[in-house]
Amino acid sequence: MDPACKLRLRNVSKMFRTARGGTVQALTPVNLDIPAHRFVSIVGPSGCGKSTLFNIISGLTEPGTGEILVDGKTVNGASGIVGYMLQKDLLLPWRTILDNVILGMEIRGTPKREAKAKALPLLRKYGLGGFEHSYPSQISGGMRQRAALLRTILYDRDIILLDEPFGALDAQTRALMQEWLLDLWDDFKKTILFITHDMEEAIYLSDEVYIMSARPGSIKAHLRIDLERPRKPTIVTSKRFVELKEEALRILSAESLKAYDQEKAV
Ligand code: ADP
Repeated sequence: MDPACKLRLRNVSKMFRTARGGTVQALTPVNLDIPAHRFVSIVGPSGCGKSTLFNIISGLTEPGTGEILVDGKTVNGASGIVGYMLQKDLLLPWRTILDNVILGMEIRGTPKREAKAKALPLLRKYGLGGFEHSYPSQISGGMRQRAALLRTILYDRDIILLDEPFGALDAQTRALMQEWLLDLWDDFKKTILFITHDMEEAIYLSDEVYIMSARPGSIKAHLRIDLERPRKPTIVTSKRFVELKEEALRILSAESLKAYDQEKAV
């Protein structure tokens, strides 16, 4: 096996039983090889199994078939191997921003004083200085997402799963968050898997983009994003960016149409 391969999925599939006694095939065998320190996005039509895939990687859901390997070791069903952040920030309303950000470190057994000493400079560096002692309800949606993202990073796993973390933010805040995420990724050298509905966001952020098929989800296409880094916001108007986006959208829209037909048929 390639020693640089951080996360590998081998023939991972999943079927769910529905409340009415039927079954839904959410994923057909999915194979992925994710090298260390890459930024990889996963895009696909609604309901194609993206979140199921993340739940399987994070150990929340057992795969029906297949294997999840981290650094070459099988980790099926194991929790705590990856950092995982959902669209909803899931900050605890009764804890301050500082206490929320250190939660992952506390869970891993870091003494509170040490965790705070580590988190404080980062809160300042990443635009949350002055809000350490505020509560989640007292800060903006963008700031809450930043706090949740910092908490995920400080949980200190090599692999971070981000499931549409910016989906609910307005366009301006989202653009700022993208810059901020690229800075974090560069500083912390994590391997990031990122789910988004937004192809431009996927291409802008990533080294690689996987496009999933309509349900049952499988990998329909794999694009290498050969755009230079560091990425500047104006890159979205470059010839290569537009070519990549056209190709990706062509594949995605065919799958989205299939997903739409499936929904109509239900
Ligand atoms: P996506 O994240 O791409 O929108 P999901 O992974 O949430 O898709 O869901 C994939 C399919 O599996 C959907 O049809 C969904 O209804 C179904 N599904 C997901 N979780 C469950 C579950 N726990 N029980 C039954 N069906 C599920």
